Amino acid sequence: PSSGLTGSQQARLSSLARDLACMNGLLLKDNPASSSSGSAAPDRCMMAPITLVPSSFSKEAFNQAVELQALFNSLYHRVSRDHNFLCRVIPPAAESDSFLSALWDMYQTVRQSGADQPITLALNRADYMLDEEAGLKQVEINLMASSFGGLAQRLSTVHRQVMSAAGVSERQLAHRLPDNRPAETFGEAFIQAFKLYGRPEAAILFVVSPDERNIFDQRTLEAEIYAADASSDSPVHVPQILRRSFDQIASSARLEESSGRLYLADQEVAIVYYRHGYSPDHFSDPAGVAWSAKLLMERSRAIKCPSLAYMLANTKAVQAALCEPGAVARYLPGKSAKVEATFVDQCVLSDSRAHRWLLADPEDFVLKPQREGGGNNIYGRDVVDFASRLTTRQSAAYILMRRIRPQQQVSLMLKADQRLSRRPEMPLCVSAISELGIYGALVAKNNSERLNCSAGHVLRTKSAFTDEGGVATGFSCIDTVYLV
Ligand code: ADP
Ligand code: MG
Repeated sequence: PSSGLTGSQQARLSSLARDLACMNGLLLKDNPASSSSGSAAPDRCMMAPITLVPSSFSKEAFNQAVELQALFNSLYHRVSRDHNFLCRVIPPAAESDSFLSALWDMYQTVRQSGADQPITLALNRADYMLDEEAGLKQVEINLMASSFGGLAQRLSTVHRQVMSAAGVSERQLAHRLPDNRPAETFGEAFIQAFKLYGRPEAAILFVVSPDERNIFDQRTLEAEIYAADASSDSPVHVPQILRRSFDQIASSARLEESSGRLYLADQEVAIVYYRHGYSPDHFSDPAGVAWSAKLLMERSRAIKCPSLAYMLANTKAVQAALCEPGAVARYLPGKSAKVEATFVDQCVLSDSRAHRWLLADPEDFVLKPQREGGGNNIYGRDVVDFASRLTTRQSAAYILMRRIRPQQQVSLMLKADQRLSRRPEMPLCVSAISELGIYGALVAKNNSERLNCSAGHVLRTKSAFTDEGGVATGFSCIDTVYLV
């Protein structure tokens, strides 16, 4: 929809969109590294990078992704409960990856201790790109710290108003802009899981980074948890949502061995929601305080979102293993074809296929380690060079994935600090590609699913000429879909 806008419309709408973005809390905390003292004032914010208007996206492919979400939720729930499958897939990948190996050890320790977490709360996001030739293809699935649901919900409000100011009719908007409330749905899932836990006086704990910039995304979810409780049939009046770093947890957490209950000081915790702890540098303190804090929480009955089993299921190694013929069908009998249709060729780098693929065309592949959070992948010609320096054992920790090639479209981007651009009142006009994220929520008691739904979307749109994404890193803008 950006193509029909004249220069003066773009300037007028940009001014409106910037104001609405700030008014609606589409913000990031200031980057401490950008201030001269190295620590940002706690109340200093900047606008999150957003697109001026939503990007066109195929309605058919969007609906396909939305319909798949409940299947993906079930698939990964079942994978996480399949100990034998994890035993087959994880150890080879963990052998030369010390982070994955530490998670695997902890998973086994906790399992052997007999600790059990009967209730599952899963807040997922499946990421796709729309390949020009092959259609909707999965990039990855996120089962941990799936972010931007709060900001995407806010951006949908802003985009609707900007489109309306651009002269698009209400009828068109209702047709083109899907209802989008990921944080609201996640809030409802939280309350449902909380009620299943059955301890109304217990708190919810967010495990957070001490210097989180994407804080308003998380605060949106907090507000939606309280709102979901207040509007539910039988409110439980969730007493508190605590935000704590691993350090803080280490100094006040306690496990009641007889009951398996988790306490922070005297406050029982029903749900541990991790927005931190998915990357080795989150555990880099030399004394191992973060690892001890995590182990204590994992040994408790509290609902961990995600559990260790989910973290293992979330690895790229599992994603590749699920591409083997028949793998998905074991978990989704009769329904696997639709899911598999979104997979592109991928395998562990130590597999003989990987060698053949790289010989044929290295530019057509992405190499991924077992990491989350962006910035870890290797692309194109670098792959061959990098791969040639790995031993077979090391290469089992990487997956090679065929590159998805989405169509480019012109995107009008608004970034916080465009003062240096020649025309700061104008959006940046960029040839861009988009990645669609579909949120999904699942609540279960053991095998029995109590809630399983799709929960809205986010687009992340970036220049077609950068390989990596990342909103916080400044490569990508948050965006929503305009269905065509
Ligand atoms: P992470 O867990 O670090 O987010 P991803 O698998 O999502 O890892 O990869 C990061 C980024 O790399 C994606 O957001 C996407 O922009 C790009 N990317 C990953 N896989 C592919 C692929 N198969 N084809 C094209 N781009 C990809
Ligand atoms: Mg990703």
